[in-house]
Amino acid sequence: MARETIRKTEAATKHSNMADYAVEVGRFSWADVRAGLAGLPGGKLNIAHEAIDRHVEAGNGDELALRWIAKNGTRTDFTYKDLRRATARFANVLRRLGVARGDRVYSLLGRVPELYITVLGTLKAGSVFSPMFSAFGPEPVKARMEIGGASALVTSKLLYKRKVAPIRQALPNLKCVLLIDGDGQAGEDGLWDLQLLMQAAGDEFETEPMDEEDMALLHFTSGTTGKPKGAVHVHGAVFAHKATGRIALDMKPGDVYWCTADPGWVTGTSYGVIAPLTNGVTMIVDQAEFDAERWYSILEDEKVTVWYTAPTAIRMLMKAGADLVKGRDLSSLRFMASVGEPLNPEAVVWGNEVFGMPFHDNWWQTETGGIMIANYASMDVKPGSMGKPLPGIIAAIVKRTNGDAQEITDPMAIGELALKPGWPSMMRAYLGEEERYRKCFVGDWYISGDLAMRDQDGYFWFVGRADDLIKSAGHLIGPFEVESALMEHPAAAEVGVIGLPDETAGEIVKAYVALKPGFEASEELNLELLGHARKRLGPAVAPKEIVFRTNLPKTRSGKIMRRLLKARELGLPEGDISTLESDEQ
Ligand code: ATP
Ligand code: MG
Repeated sequence: MARETIRKTEAATKHSNMADYAVEVGRFSWADVRAGLAGLPGGKLNIAHEAIDRHVEAGNGDELALRWIAKNGTRTDFTYKDLRRATARFANVLRRLGVARGDRVYSLLGRVPELYITVLGTLKAGSVFSPMFSAFGPEPVKARMEIGGASALVTSKLLYKRKVAPIRQALPNLKCVLLIDGDGQAGEDGLWDLQLLMQAAGDEFETEPMDEEDMALLHFTSGTTGKPKGAVHVHGAVFAHKATGRIALDMKPGDVYWCTADPGWVTGTSYGVIAPLTNGVTMIVDQAEFDAERWYSILEDEKVTVWYTAPTAIRMLMKAGADLVKGRDLSSLRFMASVGEPLNPEAVVWGNEVFGMPFHDNWWQTETGGIMIANYASMDVKPGSMGKPLPGIIAAIVKRTNGDAQEITDPMAIGELALKPGWPSMMRAYLGEEERYRKCFVGDWYISGDLAMRDQDGYFWFVGRADDLIKSAGHLIGPFEVESALMEHPAAAEVGVIGLPDETAGEIVKAYVALKPGFEASEELNLELLGHARKRLGPAVAPKEIVFRTNLPKTRSGKIMRRLLKARELGLPEGDISTLESDEQ
């Protein structure tokens, strides 16, 4: 997949937060990051304090913290001072309702201001925050609240009626439900009108002093490979949120930062709330769903400087065409990054052509709590590579041998992507699944479940999830490689590749392709794509079969669910599909 390396010019990197990767790796220490935080008396800390109050105390309270864009385009602004007051009120509301330190507060909300106030107000009160996608149905909502033992839920009347009321009986711990659009409820059936409570509450609150190891967040994984796991994160994770925001996303005070992820999954919380606010930037939140024109308008009108998005969105922008960018002034944009799925080299190159800078792919997981491997502002980008480990993070390619895991150092050898445990935002448990948690650790390593390679320059390359690797006629084939080759074809908008059992080859490669507008599924196009793949990959690796789909099944966080393509193909049970989003075949 050799694509030309995108070299960084001196002008592009001169003002970046990390001028030289090797130098930073040499001098980085978590103790320095810790020392850079405000903390609370007695060696305590609180994520909410680092995110909001410290800025107010430092005299920056009038800076814009959050600009919320409603579906109808109306803008609402919150300064750091505004957020301090609103989150204090929310924390007082929790106290009044008897929601204590350590209790679990869930949200089931779209991207509305109350969601952001809930995240930070909950942390301020020392309670644990757990987000859910507003699009979840009653069953996923129930499962998540059961696992975490939800005490309180913040939602809307409509979402409550549709998704919570039907399963409320099964949640005896849930003592209060706060409705953001309530009509005067005052505790009947545990329902409360949040606005009324907020008005009655004081706007001063003494932030709960927490220990680094105190639980702060409960994040469920995306459910791409199976039933979602509840990863426990602690207040000390804020060290990593802040440092990675600075180093991997190059955030600086004065930046206008837009993370397009929904706080229903970890990216929307770690990098859609905590990292930007701890770094003192202005964050943009758009209530609406993806729309190419709207997104370009936001980038232009808000003068976004740092933009963090995901491969699915980038592919949709590519599908919408570069013409939409013509005539727009996107000169404020300085840094673009992507996470969540492998980013096809094609998308990196496209970004470079259209925006004059590449998308910087980075890799992490719900379990890691923060970015672990990244392409940096000052580092040359090899399209298709995830980049290099963050300073302070040790990543390796390992092979398991008799209950141990050994690092393999041969360039481009495929193995399991592993991390040396001990960074601050590492999960502390899979709630209620101790055995599953223990299995993640082998020898000295945390095993990610992904397969990757490292090249001679230290760049990491994603191969596939361990479950998705295809073994065909003696070859190990990562779906990403095949998908990326097909994505080079002008007709391909989206590609998912799986292996199917085959008597002679062991497995054969099958590809599902969604087409760009203007292309019709036909036998001819099918042959052309097969031919293109064969030319790019050779006959052993190229798909044997290609089928066209309007859409591929994806999780709510936008990940292609290859296991579902496979289950459907083989007529097997679909397994847990609680996070399934688009399902049009
Ligand atoms: P589950 O664990 O429930 O199956 P999931 O692994 O998709 O779901 P997340 O924690 O949201 O849940 O996603 C992390 C995974 O996403 C990684 O392990 C990896 O497979 C994939 N991923 C994230 N970023 C990248 C990237 N830059 N390149 C390739 N894969 C990525
Ligand atoms: Mg996972």
